[in-house]
Amino acid sequence: MSAMGEGILVPETFLPLPGDTVNQPYVSVSCIPAGFLHLPDREVFDDALEQPESTGRQVPSFAFLIDHSEYGKLLFDLGLRKHGQGYPPTLRETLEIFVVHCPRDVVDLLQEGGVSPSEIRAVIYSHLHFDHVGDLTPFISAQLILGSEAAQVMKKTYPKNPDSVFAELPPGQKVRYVSFAEEEEPPTVDQGSYMAAVYQAQINPAFPIPSREMPSSTVISPLGSFTQALDLFNDGSFYLLDAPGHFPGHLAALARVAPNRFVLLAADCCHNRICYDPGDRLVSRENYHNVDDARDTVLRLKRMNQEDNVVVILAHETERLHEMPLFPRTLNQWADEEASRKALRNIADRQLSV
Ligand SMILES: [Zn+2]
Repeated sequence: MSAMGEGILVPETFLPLPGDTVNQPYVSVSCIPAGFLHLPDREVFDDALEQPESTGRQVPSFAFLIDHSEYGKLLFDLGLRKHGQGYPPTLRETLEIFVVHCPRDVVDLLQEGGVSPSEIRAVIYSHLHFDHVGDLTPFISAQLILGSEAAQVMKKTYPKNPDSVFAELPPGQKVRYVSFAEEEEPPTVDQGSYMAAVYQAQINPAFPIPSREMPSSTVISPLGSFTQALDLFNDGSFYLLDAPGHFPGHLAALARVAPNRFVLLAADCCHNRICYDPGDRLVSRENYHNVDDARDTVLRLKRMNQEDNVVVILAHETERLHEMPLFPRTLNQWADEEASRKALRNIADRQLSV
């Protein structure tokens, strides 16, 4: 048996990823390292809980620019705030541990690459931790997309709640909450600090801002080893995945980047490659909202990673920084080639295992 297969509890159901359609659209994906932070090992690995916070490594915080030929540009996460400034004061001690290094934030890097923040049609937050939310203010044309379970966190934000580690959204910010539960009521939210356009995805998937109007129906369905996925553009080019465990409403995404080729933006499903490839170390119970769900999600990620045509990228996967091209280049061609290399490695592994 190959190292990759050892000890993996494969989720019971795996649906083959949908094939390309005639005239299949693809999205281009670019990785933007929007700052760096110190990540203590005890936050990453369950076998490192006794380690001091100083033991760890500096990791990037990736944002991803997604470009769809008809619907325009989106960002999946914004990374860190410039120089680590502007977070709610309750985060001060946390920031001393995580030592933010962000001389140029996602806006600076986008502009250097010729993209204005006003071009961005939507910002998707995988979740609301400080190293993913950046500064939403310059994205004046962007709708915010969040997992519906994050709505509870947004009810009491800083400064209205001085003790909150979550900052309020810009005034007038439009928010779309993606719900994966069929019968779930749309979350109720505090209307005080922002205009909350709360949708239940299956009922009202309207996406009001893009250059071209979104299709009117969007379906939640299983995808690969994940049980719930939202086909955001309704054309199979970009899916949001329900990836629970790390934070309420945590989202991952699957982008179709070339014929029969996918990139899985796994955000904080786990915080180190070792946790999903080969999967030797369990994620830390310190850093996960629901560690059982998080470990189940990691198993699903491992199963997806066994597919030859899926390339996984975690939000803090340091190795990827040196393996893949970065914005303003897209990573599509690299992902295509990486998938081919992976297929060859998997063939070699299987031959060794018989
Ligand atoms: Zn993170």
